[in-house]
Amino acid sequence: MNVIGKVTVLPRLPQAVARLEELAYNLYWSWTPRAQELYSELDPVIWERFQRNPVRTLLEVPAERMAEVAADPAYLERYRAVLADFDAYMGLTDTWASRNAASLQQGGVAYFSMEYAFHECLPIYSGGLGVLAGDHCKSASDLGLPFTAVGMLFRQGYFTQLFNKDGWQQERYDELDLTTLPIRPARTASGDEARVSVRVAGRDVALRVWQLQVGRIRVLLLDSDVPENSEDDRKLTARLYGGNQELRIQQYLLLGIGGVRALRALNVPASVYHMNEGHAAFMALERIRERVAAGLDFRAATEAVASATLFTTHTPVPAGNDAYAYDLTDRYLGEWAAQLSTTRDELYELARQEQFWDNRWVPSFSMSVFALRMSRAANGVSELHGEVSRGLWNFLYPGAEQDEVPIGHVTNGAHNLTFLAQPFRDLYSTVLPQDWTERLEDKAMWQAIREIPDAELARTQHTLKTEMISFVRSRLKEQLERNGASASDVAAAEQVLSPDALTIGFARRFATYKRATLLFRDKARLSRIVNNPERPVQFVFAGKAHPADNPGKAFIQEIYRVSQEPEFQGKIVILENYDMNVARHLVQGVDVWMNNPRRPLEASGTSGMKASFNGAPNFSVLDGWWREGYDGKNGWPIGDEREYADLNVQDDADSFSLYRTLEEQIVPLYYRRDAQGQNHGWLDTVRQAIITVNPEFSMQRQVIDYTRNYYLTLNTRHDEVEADGAQLARNLGGWKAWIRQQWPHTSLQASAQLPASVQPGEQVTVAAQVNPAGIADGELRVEAVLKRGETLSRVPLESRGQGRYEASIPLEDSGLYSIGVRMMPTKEGLGNEFELGLIKWA
Ligand SMILES: *Cc1c(COP(=O)(O)O)cnc(C)c1O
Repeated sequence: MNVIGKVTVLPRLPQAVARLEELAYNLYWSWTPRAQELYSELDPVIWERFQRNPVRTLLEVPAERMAEVAADPAYLERYRAVLADFDAYMGLTDTWASRNAASLQQGGVAYFSMEYAFHECLPIYSGGLGVLAGDHCKSASDLGLPFTAVGMLFRQGYFTQLFNKDGWQQERYDELDLTTLPIRPARTASGDEARVSVRVAGRDVALRVWQLQVGRIRVLLLDSDVPENSEDDRKLTARLYGGNQELRIQQYLLLGIGGVRALRALNVPASVYHMNEGHAAFMALERIRERVAAGLDFRAATEAVASATLFTTHTPVPAGNDAYAYDLTDRYLGEWAAQLSTTRDELYELARQEQFWDNRWVPSFSMSVFALRMSRAANGVSELHGEVSRGLWNFLYPGAEQDEVPIGHVTNGAHNLTFLAQPFRDLYSTVLPQDWTERLEDKAMWQAIREIPDAELARTQHTLKTEMISFVRSRLKEQLERNGASASDVAAAEQVLSPDALTIGFARRFATYKRATLLFRDKARLSRIVNNPERPVQFVFAGKAHPADNPGKAFIQEIYRVSQEPEFQGKIVILENYDMNVARHLVQGVDVWMNNPRRPLEASGTSGMKASFNGAPNFSVLDGWWREGYDGKNGWPIGDEREYADLNVQDDADSFSLYRTLEEQIVPLYYRRDAQGQNHGWLDTVRQAIITVNPEFSMQRQVIDYTRNYYLTLNTRHDEVEADGAQLARNLGGWKAWIRQQWPHTSLQASAQLPASVQPGEQVTVAAQVNPAGIADGELRVEAVLKRGETLSRVPLESRGQGRYEASIPLEDSGLYSIGVRMMPTKEGLGNEFELGLIKWA
């Protein structure tokens, strides 16, 4: 059959429970276990079989069962309670944003990301980046921000991971049945299904726009699988991170350009644009095109667009930073220079990064460079990652010190409620104020967790660990049965792991820098730890490798093989198909969360936060968030705070530290009992993890940081730049072009009268002679730069006329000073003084 359209017809629900349909289409349920229970109770088997998807469950559950619950007073009471909470949530007007971000109400934030993890039934994510984006949306809803997200609807998702008999990862691609997902076609004001189209290498690709309701905010998802497209184009949005560079760049065009068009088609106001990773950078092309079509020149349009844009970079690993050779770029961006009224050279210059490819240096079009140039604010995702990113992109700002590179940081968080087990929510509710879920970032509030008695805390953890273990057992059984294992092996799966043993979780993408097999560097020592009869330790692993990442798959296989060895059997296990569901079970059920990436490549990491939300302390390399989160009492570090030149030495040092901390600290503390038979010392660490990690690494804190540090300033800047027909954008665009043209003709000489030694407080005179090449006095900043150890200070030299500049500089502290003089163009209205990347040193 030639299908021209599909439509979902939900069964007519009994009146008493009619709103189950409305609730099913709002992902509010994804962080509300009580809401999920309303559906799982209808039929637990159906619920589990269809990835805990409420829409699908409503489609599958027979009418008789619906009639039954509609007549069940206990069910109806739970139903009413959930809906009352839902209505209160949706109707709340006194939100954080209404009190703290009122200026955003006129416009709002448009957030673009290639992947989103909201829930396992919508598998349009691969890992941490997606979880972060999904969580960001959820907290934007919680805080009441005017916010719309844009992404892609990948019909085959990322992939389902299966292990074969040898523990080798297999990928299975299942076609999602969109009609059973909690999404609906987005409709324009006139009621039509929204459609946009993007020109890709000479073809017009049509996109359907779906919408996903996430609490109070909306996510628009683009889908090229529509009848008007060719067979090949229908597959463009089939898979996340599938295919080659050609496919990727086409997907990026659809996301960036199609995404902006979708916002326009649906009349979504936006004054701030947030690029989550460089994948989204092409949004700038479309926004510049719009402005050029409305009469601005290319440079002014670029200023206007960049001034309202934030770029978040997520990884220092090259595989995460796409760059294209110019011939490939020409195929896909060939038509754009003309549309933007500029030249190919000028456009490509904005994304240029030299690459050492095939033994020679060639220019490339880098998505990250383009994103940096197309934004006036940029950030990394932890303090250390901010620093690493400033180093990585220093070359775009020649003459700037690494610390001056205009990239800041907002440390990642995670959406507490999405990952918090219901029993913990209940337990926390006994000591926290009634509105605790609305002020998760409030550190003082969390102190009350100390009042939770040992016994209750221990009981809750034990219950959740037992649940997690039974989940692991049933998953392993499925896997063994599928692979044709013997009946005795299948039966053995019923016995793996003990709820009384110290249980350590390790789950993440199997990118090699995450060093999933570090634990196995000394297997004899590991065996002694695991097999200690009085104080046993067990490990649960999970994680996907990218389909093309054979070294990552080899890691999985190595863990799988270790898990089959007699001395580790049932004590080290690896689970298939790490997804949101597996993640929730693990972070809620393990005692300790372990992470040992090769510092400083982790950027942030977030899974450890989720574990500590649920009372599992972290045991991790001091990289990313843990470098900030570790306070000496809420978990344990692995290795030292340093980098290594020799990776083998680093692996040895870190694994040595790992074993030793396990043997000498973690295991003894876990098994120590006081006179009451309680492990009070351990539970204090647990409480400390809950108290410190929940507020500081809540997604709520993260989105508040983004709003305060970036969204509000960009929003103000947007207003300034757009005022009077974008006058400031025109001025800046023209001025920058003139400065760039004059800059090569400027010159700078400097001198300093420096005695051999100076007493603290004495002054030295620094002077410079400038040829400004026509650049006005006030538009040059000539300055002395003083470096003493790690501290850098900048002292402006004053103009004395005729290109002469001078200053007397007091040297307050003792020490060795290095003094230099440099100049840079400056102007009122610049986003920051380094954005031109023009700095000249004497
Ligand atoms: C949280 C999460 C991640 C990211 O965890 P990291 O600590 O960054 O490795 C990846 N996948 C899933 C399913 C998650 O829930």
